[in-house]
Amino acid sequence: MAPSWSLSSALKGMFARKTIDDDTWSDLEDALISADFGPDITDSIVDELRASVAKYRTTDPADLQRMLRETLEERLARLDPTLHLSARPAVVLVVGVNGVGKTTTIGKFAKFLTNYGRTVVVGAADTFRAAAVEQLATWAERGGAAIVKPQAQGQDPASVAFQTVELAQREGIEIVLIDTAGRLQTKSGLMDELGKIRRVLEKQVEIAEVLLVLDATTGQNGLAQAEAFIEHAGVTGLVLTKLDGSAKGGFVLAVQEKTGIPIKLVGQGEGINDLTGFTPHVFVQGLVG
Ligand code: GDP
Ligand code: GDP
Ligand code: MG
Repeated sequence: MAPSWSLSSALKGMFARKTIDDDTWSDLEDALISADFGPDITDSIVDELRASVAKYRTTDPADLQRMLRETLEERLARLDPTLHLSARPAVVLVVGVNGVGKTTTIGKFAKFLTNYGRTVVVGAADTFRAAAVEQLATWAERGGAAIVKPQAQGQDPASVAFQTVELAQREGIEIVLIDTAGRLQTKSGLMDELGKIRRVLEKQVEIAEVLLVLDATTGQNGLAQAEAFIEHAGVTGLVLTKLDGSAKGGFVLAVQEKTGIPIKLVGQGEGINDLTGFTPHVFVQGLVG
């Protein structure tokens, strides 16, 4: 079955036609806009494909489909999705607005890493709510990871992060995943908190990755909320969650081009195995068919 974010149903009319005509172009434009590519990227893709169709003098919609696939793949592959996890320990800070899927992603990511034989510890640096710590503990267990919890509710998140790395160093645990708070009501407070976590960690190790988690169902609106993280948190990669419930496949390209930050992981479900690396070729197959 085609994924929810596939363009296939929106493009059905286009491919049902025997030739490429004005309706083809308006179907294509509508499909791209409704998939949340945004007007600028939509225009540039349509212009590029019009030029290619003219250049190769084709009237076959199947050629247009192939060209669409190629241009999307080429654009998505401009940034390198490789996770840099060779340091020991490799410390990954996971940041983002409340509810986007940070804690869930950490559990899935731990599982992804332990499947490859890596050892993992997670740090519960979202210390304000006891429930947040317990939620992370559940996911850590599913993911086969150790956990460092605050000794008391509301303990300084930076000290929990510090103790997590300390444990990893002492016990030779390879990967450290730090869960953080996402309360944006006090944006400057949160950014200060993240800044302090970073400063404290950097006394111990170089931070390997700062992953910003974004909820694909909110599309480009959600990106506006995340701007503070991009400005202040030293983000090295994006994680797109909830693609399984999203019709906004185009957000994937839009978010990379808008931020200039590569997508490194993709979440497509609430199960422990529903996280994958980001492979433009595979993604475009799902998108365009
Ligand atoms: P946090 O506040 O950023 O830590 O977000 P949580 O990890 O607590 O997740 C918030 C909600 O999103 C939970 O109900 C998760 O099950 C759900 N969620 C997270 N990732 C995905 C995903 O890839 N797909 C779906 N469908 N739901 C997800
Ligand atoms: P401060 O809390 O404003 O004094 O900021 P610091 O940068 O000194 O430390 C931030 C937090 O990280 C503190 O609450 C400490 O618990 C923790 N921390 C920093 N350095 C160390 C250290 O050398 N050992 C331990 N155990 N914790 C540290
Ligand atoms: Mg959380």
